[in-house]
Amino acid sequence: NNLPLTDLFASLTEAQRTAVAHIDGPMLTLAGPGSGKTRVVTHRVANLVRQGIQARNILALTFTNKAADEMRQRLAALAPGQPVWMGTFHRFCVRTLRIHAPLVGLSENFSIYDMDDSRKLLKLVLAEERLESTHASPDSIAHAISAAKNNLVTPDKYRETALYGSTLGSLVERAYPAYQRALLRANAVDFDDLLQHVAVLLRENPDVRKQQDAKYKYILVDEYQDTNLAQYAIIRALSIDYPNLSVTGDPDQSIYGWRGANVRNILEFEKDFPNVKVVRLEQNYRSTQSILRVADVLIAHNKRRKKKRLWTENPEGEAVRLVCYPTHTDEAEQIASQIATAVRQGKYRPRDFAIFFRTNALSRQFEHALREQVLPYQIVNGLEFYQRMEIKDVMAYLHLLNNQRDNVALRRVINTPTRGIGKSTITKLQEYASHRGLSMLDAARQAGLIEGLPKKSAVAVAKFVALIDKLSESLTAEVEQIVGMVLSESGYREVLQNSESEEDQERLANLEELLTAARQFDMHNPQGGKLEHFLEETSLVSDTDAWSSDTDRVSLMTMHAAKGLEFPVVYIVACEQGLLPHERSRHDEEKLEEERRLLFVGLTRARQELQLSYAQYRMFRGINAPTIPSHFLQELPRDEMRLQEPKTGPRRLIDFDSQLPADDDHLDEGPIEHAAATEQDISFEPEEFSQIEPSEARKKPQLDKRFSLMSGADLLTRQ
Ligand code: ATP
Ligand code: MG
Repeated sequence: NNLPLTDLFASLTEAQRTAVAHIDGPMLTLAGPGSGKTRVVTHRVANLVRQGIQARNILALTFTNKAADEMRQRLAALAPGQPVWMGTFHRFCVRTLRIHAPLVGLSENFSIYDMDDSRKLLKLVLAEERLESTHASPDSIAHAISAAKNNLVTPDKYRETALYGSTLGSLVERAYPAYQRALLRANAVDFDDLLQHVAVLLRENPDVRKQQDAKYKYILVDEYQDTNLAQYAIIRALSIDYPNLSVTGDPDQSIYGWRGANVRNILEFEKDFPNVKVVRLEQNYRSTQSILRVADVLIAHNKRRKKKRLWTENPEGEAVRLVCYPTHTDEAEQIASQIATAVRQGKYRPRDFAIFFRTNALSRQFEHALREQVLPYQIVNGLEFYQRMEIKDVMAYLHLLNNQRDNVALRRVINTPTRGIGKSTITKLQEYASHRGLSMLDAARQAGLIEGLPKKSAVAVAKFVALIDKLSESLTAEVEQIVGMVLSESGYREVLQNSESEEDQERLANLEELLTAARQFDMHNPQGGKLEHFLEETSLVSDTDAWSSDTDRVSLMTMHAAKGLEFPVVYIVACEQGLLPHERSRHDEEKLEEERRLLFVGLTRARQELQLSYAQYRMFRGINAPTIPSHFLQELPRDEMRLQEPKTGPRRLIDFDSQLPADDDHLDEGPIEHAAATEQDISFEPEEFSQIEPSEARKKPQLDKRFSLMSGADLLTRQ
C-alpha cells in the first residue's frame, strides 16, 4: 500500500479505469485483442487489495499457469506482499478437491491422470466390459466422455444427451459409468473430472458451497470466452451470496470449442446477473494499424459474431507480408535467415520473434533452420518433457508411492525394468483385484494365494511389492531424494547405464533433468514431505509453461499456445488448406469459424511486423505433396498487403472430394489436401518470384485468380 492510488490508474485509459475501479457486483468486460483486458484484471486485483479487501478473499482465474505467474509478478510490483490466489481453473479445482475429496468418493491423495494414463484406463475398461467395437474407437469414446464431463453430464444423466441412441452413444452410455468406477477405484481423476467433481461437489453440498462462496468474495476470470459449462457452474456457484464476479474475454478469440468451451457462457452470464456492469475497451495498445486492419478484415468473415470497434493510436507500421515459398524447406530456411539478418543488424533481438504454426508437428523444420543460423530458440511444448517414456515411468513409481490404489501406475511399473512379470500374471492380478474389490497392489500382496499363478511369478511379484514397500518408507524425504531412490532401487538407472544405445544415454540425461526439476521444487518448498504437491505440479504443466519471456530466444509455438501473448515480429507459417483451416473443420461451418478465430488470435499477437506464408510443396506426414493456400488468405485485404507470390497462373485444383474416400478417419492420416498439378505447374523456379508492392498489387487482380479457383462451395459446404 505504499504507492498512491493514482499511480495504479495513471497508465490506464478512461474505459480501463472504469473497469479497474469497479468493486462490488458483477462485471463483464468484452473487448478485442490487445485492448488491455489482462492488464485490467491485474490492476483491478491490486486496486481491490488497496481498497482494504483481504487478499485471501480474492480469486483470479487465468487460462494458463504462465498467465498466472505473470499476473503474480505484476501484482508484486503494484501491491507487494499480497497472497492473492491466482492460477488456472484446474489448479484451483485440485486445491478444492484435496480438501473435500471424500465428498466425491476420493481420498485426498488422489492421482491426476494425463491423457495417456486415462486413455490406458479407458481401454482396460472397454476390454473388461466387452465394449470393444469396430464402430467406435477408444479415442472417440474418450472424446464423448470428455464432452459429457465438460457439459456436466454425469453418467446417470447420459441418456438425456443427444448422442444417446446412436451406436457411439450406446457404447458411451455403458463405458462412461464403468470408466468412472475404475477411476474412483484407482483413487484417480482425469483432467475433466477436476472440473466436474468440483462443480458437482458445490451443487450437492450447500454448506461447502456457502463456505467457499464466502471465502472467495471477489472472483476474476480472464479469457472467459474459453470457459466450458463446468467452469461456468463453478464460478456461478461461488458467486451467489457474494456476486462479485468479473469476467473478461473476447468472443472472437474463442478457440477451444473442441475442448468444450462455450461462448454461450457469456450470454448465460448476462442472464444470471441481469444487473451486470458491461465495460467495453476499444483502443488497442499492441499492434500497428496495418496489422490491426488485416486482423479485422479477416474476422469480419465470421457470420456468428458481434461486430466490435477496435482502433489504435499506434503508427501505421509496415505492410503485412504474404509470402509464398516453393517448398517447406525454403519457408523455414528463408524465415530463419531473415531473422538472423535482423538480429545481426541489431534491429531486433531473438526474443522479439515468434513463429506460429497450426500443429506441433510442423515445428521440426523451423528448429532445424534456426539451428543452422545458430539462433537460440525455445519451443513451447511444456507437455513434451513429462510425456517422455522414461519420465512417465519414473513418475508412475512416484504416483504409486503417493497413491497405492493407482492401478494405471502399477501396471506401468510392475515390469519396468523387466523383472519377469508377464502379461498373464498382470491379468491374473487384475482379475483377483476386481473380484475382491482390491487395488492391484493389494492383490499383488496376496500373490501367493492367487490360483494358477506359477510360483516363479508369485516370487517376482512379491519382490516388486517389497520394492514398493521399501520405497514407501522414504515418502517424507525431499522429492529429489525420492526420485534418486526410485532410480537406483528399481534398477531403472542401471539398465540405462549398461546400455550402449544413444537413445538410452539421452534417457539418462532426461532423468538428470527430472532430478533437477525435483531439486528446484524442493528449494521452493522447503517444508518437505511434499511428494503429492510435486506430482500435482507436474501433472498440471500446460503448453505454455515451458515458455519463458526472460530468455533471449526465438519462440516457436502453436497458435493455441500463443493466446494472450505478444511479440514484436510474428511469422505465421504453413497457411495451407488442411493445416489451417485444419482438415477436421472442412465440412463444418462452426469449426471453420473457430479456425478463422485461431488465425485471428495469431495475427493479433504481432506488435510491429507480421508475415503470413505458405509453401507450394510440403512434406507432411511423410508425403511430399503440392498444397493449396489457405482460403483464409484470400479473405485478407490483399491490396494493402505486401505480396510475394509466384507470377505463374493459377494451378488447377482437383475436386478432392471426388478423389479421396469419404471416410474422414482416413483423411486424418493422409496427406494434406491435394492440389492437382500439371507438369508445368509443378516446376517452380525461385526467379518466378516477384516482389509486388502494395500499390502495384492493386493493378494486378490476376494474382487473386488462383485463390478464387479453390474458394467456394466445395471448401465450405457441409457434409
Ligand atoms: P488479448 O486479448 O490478446 O489477451 P488483452 O486485451 O488482454 O489482449 P493486454 O495483454 O492486457 O491486452 O494488453 C496489450 C498490450 O497493451 C500490453 O503490452 C499492455 O501492457 C499494453 N497496454 C494496455 N493498456 C495500456 C495502456 N493504457 N497504456 C499503455 N499500454 C497499455
Ligand atoms: Mg489478455
